[in-house]
Amino acid sequence: MTTLATPPLIELGAPVLGEPEKRALAEVVDSGWLAMGERVRSFEQAFARMHGVEDAVAVSSATAALQVVLATFGIGPGDEVLVPSLSFVATANVVVAAGATPVFVDIEAPERPHMSIEEARARITSSTRAILIMHYAGYTMDVPAWRRLADEYGLFLFEDAAHAAGATGAVGVYSDAAAFSFFANKNLTTGEGGMVLVRGDAPRARMRLMRAHGMTTGTLDRVHGRTTAYDVVECGTNCRMDELRGALGLVQLQRLPEWNECRRGLSTRYRELLAEMLPEVLVPFDRPDPTVAHLFPVLLPPGADRRSVVAAMTGSRVQTSVHYAPIHRFDFYRRRFGALSLPRTERFADGELTLPLHPRLTEADVSRVVATLAEALGRTTGRPSREVAS
Ligand SMILES: *Cc1c(COP(=O)(O)O)cnc(C)c1O
Repeated sequence: MTTLATPPLIELGAPVLGEPEKRALAEVVDSGWLAMGERVRSFEQAFARMHGVEDAVAVSSATAALQVVLATFGIGPGDEVLVPSLSFVATANVVVAAGATPVFVDIEAPERPHMSIEEARARITSSTRAILIMHYAGYTMDVPAWRRLADEYGLFLFEDAAHAAGATGAVGVYSDAAAFSFFANKNLTTGEGGMVLVRGDAPRARMRLMRAHGMTTGTLDRVHGRTTAYDVVECGTNCRMDELRGALGLVQLQRLPEWNECRRGLSTRYRELLAEMLPEVLVPFDRPDPTVAHLFPVLLPPGADRRSVVAAMTGSRVQTSVHYAPIHRFDFYRRRFGALSLPRTERFADGELTLPLHPRLTEADVSRVVATLAEALGRTTGRPSREVAS
């Protein structure tokens, strides 16, 4: 066996974590108070300010965020909610968990794998109560257009903004509520965590109750002896954020704009190299869509065997992923709602490959990823990759 130097692993995504995060966590430990408190409150205010909205509600995950959104706006049995199938399963699971029915909507086109607004309009019935859009890969949708559609039919408009933290001016501004994720693989991370941007004081107050058992006072108030009595005015849950996560969020938020800028720059470099070396690979969102570049999805040419491509790239120490297996094709959804066909979603999902993208990636890494992909495509088809599409 020859001893070739193993090239370093290029990770799909990787958070930036360092001394400021360690210091922030140590301060919380030293303070002696771990449960939701002043740091979480500061994180809410800073997050809201960055996105140009009045205030925000921190929670334990984006899934919890979507659940309290649906509860706050009274979405339940008998209600239909329009959702994309090309999303993480939580987008639909929360609707089912609320007792409502997710109605899957196809994507626009391979070049724009966002939920199609024309298709959504066609699926509105007298039972439709809400539309839940998702900013796939961090590319922001035309939220004002969705707002007009929602208003036309008297529907709520919610955003699954799990990919879109820092998309200022686009998310959380026109919808009734937008849910963010701070899971370990998102643009800003607190390990687990989430946030809701919600318009209006009344729904925001209701959401704060829903987050903490429907209780009229918080733990901090009771500990500090500000009050001992409380009432329960909603059947709430517990999906609070804790101070450790609040502290991490405050630190990470400061660098989010810089990281998103870095992601955009690397995405541009990918686009240039792919156009030059692999023009048969389709890169969605080629128009200058505003983006925080959470992911870098591409569509492999027809006939390419994705499994072999992934295996070859893994062999060259380049991680890849697929975003996403369509929700409507999962076993649970097929059993519960029957087989349905969303041809554009299926075609896109079957050929999609997500390439590495995170702020610690270099332009040299991007070149290596593209060269590895070119080699993998050439090898798996047994022909120069350029001929695959013809
Ligand atoms: C990550 C993600 C979620 C779930 O976020 P959690 O914070 O892990 O609950 C929901 N929707 C989309 C599109 C996601 O990418």
